[in-house]
Parts: sequence; C-alpha cells; structure tokens
Amino acid sequence: MDNSKRYFMNKNEILENTEQAFEEEQFLVYFQPQYNYTSKKIIGAEALVRWFHPLYGMQSPGDFIPVYESSGYITRLDLYVFEKICAFLRKSIDKNVRIVPISFNVSRYDVYGGNFIEDMEAIRKRYDIPVTYFRIEITESSLVGGNEYMIRIVESLHSLGYVVEMDDFGSGYSSLNVLKDVEVDIIKLDMIFMRGKIGGRGGIIINSIIKMANWLGTPVIAEGVETIDQAEYLQSIGCNYIQGYLFSKPV
Ligand code: C2E
Ligand code: CA
Ligand code: CA
Repeated sequence: MDNSKRYFMNKNEILENTEQAFEEEQFLVYFQPQYNYTSKKIIGAEALVRWFHPLYGMQSPGDFIPVYESSGYITRLDLYVFEKICAFLRKSIDKNVRIVPISFNVSRYDVYGGNFIEDMEAIRKRYDIPVTYFRIEITESSLVGGNEYMIRIVESLHSLGYVVEMDDFGSGYSSLNVLKDVEVDIIKLDMIFMRGKIGGRGGIIINSIIKMANWLGTPVIAEGVETIDQAEYLQSIGCNYIQGYLFSKPV
C-alpha cells in the first residue's frame, strides 16, 4: 500500500464508505503473535482488523471501531472478522499446518442484547472449527457497569468451551472490582504499563498485578512489549507471555 495516498476519513466518510467496504471485502484480518519469552515459542495470535480503502489507503481500527460502536456496525464487523478467522483456520486445518489459538476481539456492544454468541457459534459450526482454537478478548470497560450481566456472558462462553481474556487490564478505573467478580481465564496487561521507564512505581504496580494473577491462577499476557529490556524485566517478575513489536507487528 502506497502510504502517500493515505488519508484519514472523518466519521461521516467512514459511515458513507462502510457498505461498499463490506461488499468489496476491504476489511482484512491481521494476526499478531503472542510468545512465551522463555521458550521463544508462539502461544497464540490476536486477530486485528484493518481497512484498506482503495482511494484513502489503510484505516486503523482505533479510528473506525469507535464510529462503528456508536452506529451499530460493530457487531456486523466483528462477525465478519470471526468468519474470516474461521475460514483461515479451516484452510490451515485442511493443510495440516500447526495451529495456535486465535484471540478474537469482542466489543461490549456485541454482547449487550442480541444473539451474538449464537451467531458466532453458527459460524464456527459451519466451518467446523473446535472451540479450543479461540480465545475471546473482552475489554474490562465492557465488563464495567454490569458485572452481573458479564458474569452470565462469561459463564455462557465458558459453558461452550471458550477461553476468555480480559483485555486492556489496568487501563480502566475498576479493573480490580471486575476481576473480583468475573472469572476470566487470561489477563492481558494494558500496554500503558510498558510506557515510560522500566521499574519505579510502574514496576511495583506491574509486579503486584503479576503476583495477584499468580495467586488467582490466571496467566498474564503483557501487551505492547517493544524492547528486550521490557521483556527481560517482565520475565524477571514472572510474566513470560508477551505480545508486541519486539517479536512482531500484526501481519
Ligand atoms: P487492542 O485489542 O488493545 O489491540 C492491540 C493494539 O496494539 C493493536 O492496535 C496492535 O497493533 C497494537 N500493538 C501491538 N503491539 C504493539 C507495540 O509493541 N507497540 C505499540 N505501540 N502498539 C502495539 P490496532 O490493531 O490499531 O487496534 C487498536 C484497537 O482496535 C484494538 O486494541 C482493539 O481494541 C480494536 N480492534 C482491532 N481489531 C478489532 C476487531 O476485529 N474487533 C473489535 N471489536 N475491535 C478491534
Ligand atoms: Ca485486544
Ligand atoms: Ca489490548
């Protein structure tokens, strides 16, 4: 993609171009690997959507996802992404390629009301993909506001066999309260903790989160890891799972 052609669409342009984007399959799914830093093995990959507009170039999800969340397109996009992941996994299974679990981002708007989980299940069954190949990422902010509801959502995902990850842990204001009530399987440490210098007050906080997660028996994946120093530090405090530019950008 020629980056000189890149133009950032405003909200109206995003909405005006969306139907055509679905029709022409302009949305592509990228994968960013997650590593075990000690063994240097891939333990999974996160699916991240990209929009390649023929005229305006690549649009990043950080720009169009919020517009879709406020306009109702989000669920259609997330199911589209889920189907692309299923198609990718089906091809890999058929070719006998080694597969790692794929983390799939679910917006808070997907799970409030509607039939999102049923729709997901119908797609998964159509492609005949075992549930163990997926991890569902939900942001803690989607958990905020209705812990009761989210407990039920996570329970129903669990009863179907899905692994549930709490995304962006620590960036919201009530992470601990949510963690107390909602039994997630994996915590994704927000990349905000990787900014600034390693150690110091931030280090004490990360350290405590890792210890607490350990006591809960919940693995932690640190996001936004860009340097060896960060990875070494995380390893030294017991966090082996990392995702970030250090190993790979989304590809
Ligand atoms: P996220 O779920 O927290 O995803 C991680 C973001 O961090 C991605 O941005 C990824 O490219 C970026 N990243 C990964 N490693 C590094 C690093 O080492 N340094 C830095 N600075 N950044 C790193 P991306 O792809 O732009 O996605 C932004 C957000 O958009 C995601 O944040 C997620 O909340 C949302 N998103 C992306 N794809 C989907 C999707 O299919 N559905 C939904 N509902 N949301 C999505
Ligand atoms: Ca995520
Ligand atoms: Ca995240």
